[in-house]
Amino acid sequence: MNAPFNFSAGPAMLPAEVMQQAQAEFLSWRNCGISVLEISHRDPAFMRMAAEAEQDLRDLMAIPDNYHVLFMHGGGRGQFSAVAQNIASPDATVDYLNCGIWSEFAIREAQKYVAQVNVVGGPVQTEQGKAICAPQQWQLSEQAAYFHYCPNETVDGIAVHDIPEVAAPLVADMSSNILSTRLDVSRFGVIYAGAQKNIGPSGFAIAIVRNDLLGKAQGNTSTIMDYTVQAKEGSMYNTPNTFAWYLSGLVFQWLKRQGGVAAMEQLNRAKAAKLYDFIDRSSFYSNPVHPHYRSLMNVPFLLADDALNERFLREAEQHGLVGLKGHRFVGGMRASIYNAMPMAGVDALLAFMADFEKKA
Ligand SMILES: *Cc1c(COP(=O)(O)O)cnc(C)c1O
Repeated sequence: MNAPFNFSAGPAMLPAEVMQQAQAEFLSWRNCGISVLEISHRDPAFMRMAAEAEQDLRDLMAIPDNYHVLFMHGGGRGQFSAVAQNIASPDATVDYLNCGIWSEFAIREAQKYVAQVNVVGGPVQTEQGKAICAPQQWQLSEQAAYFHYCPNETVDGIAVHDIPEVAAPLVADMSSNILSTRLDVSRFGVIYAGAQKNIGPSGFAIAIVRNDLLGKAQGNTSTIMDYTVQAKEGSMYNTPNTFAWYLSGLVFQWLKRQGGVAAMEQLNRAKAAKLYDFIDRSSFYSNPVHPHYRSLMNVPFLLADDALNERFLREAEQHGLVGLKGHRFVGGMRASIYNAMPMAGVDALLAFMADFEKKA
């Protein structure tokens, strides 16, 4: 049987080419006779690789020179506290737009470190489906140390496509949409992402931090999570996750070979449009999100009868379509279609869905 298409939300599908390269050089990395897992992070060959990975990411995202790129521990959720501790003082006020489940976790984490966590708005139910409260309704604070939002809520499949226009430094959790569409990085104070959705292995995170936001860490910030220390130490204050850094670097090279983020955006828009069009035309499948707020990366859908869910998942798996079960908080199905998912995967899913509907 052909390799399955993996629609898992994270850890998620990686480009086969990348994994084959990692496999081919696993025992002897860059002909040095030892594995990349075994080499010192201070070894010149590793340091060169690390710098190339950073440069590739900078090229892909057109990251301006006045930003540091940090390779951090602790995944996406590690950044929930890191952002609060690094950017805000304990007596500060911070603004959060509640876009869904991950935003709620981020808000709860920030409450541990910052006196006033002001939620400016949240999800709303409209006639056309689930949406996020519009900017005109946001209750912004006077002097927020930052404004935090999650442009792609992975669980709910809700996206805020328009970059918020706010006075405070903008902080974005891009764990599930980094590198998926072109982005004006200069609009942001901090962009962070856990790696396992659109980049590489889990437990790893990337933080892109504007220089003027460094030097503000709260005194009790754990040193390995301190942006200023990590910026000064080239993300090697302690031993970084060398394998994740390496693998992420391979993904960045792969992205460049695909034509970069602009090419990915085109493909991602086409994949998502195909899926949503099919779901909207069907009376058997439905998507609960307002068309303007639909995610390009995570497409949740419900079957007309929940009792068919188990059978759908079982038969999908038999057709080589795995990882389609919706998040345990919301149920139903979810197709995650990150950069590594080719159009062929979406086509195979749609063919299966059409067939299943006919038989149901
Ligand atoms: C997956 C995810 C997280 C959590 O990432 P971890 O690496 O598991 O901590 C946070 N935010 C968003 C938007 C996510 O999709």
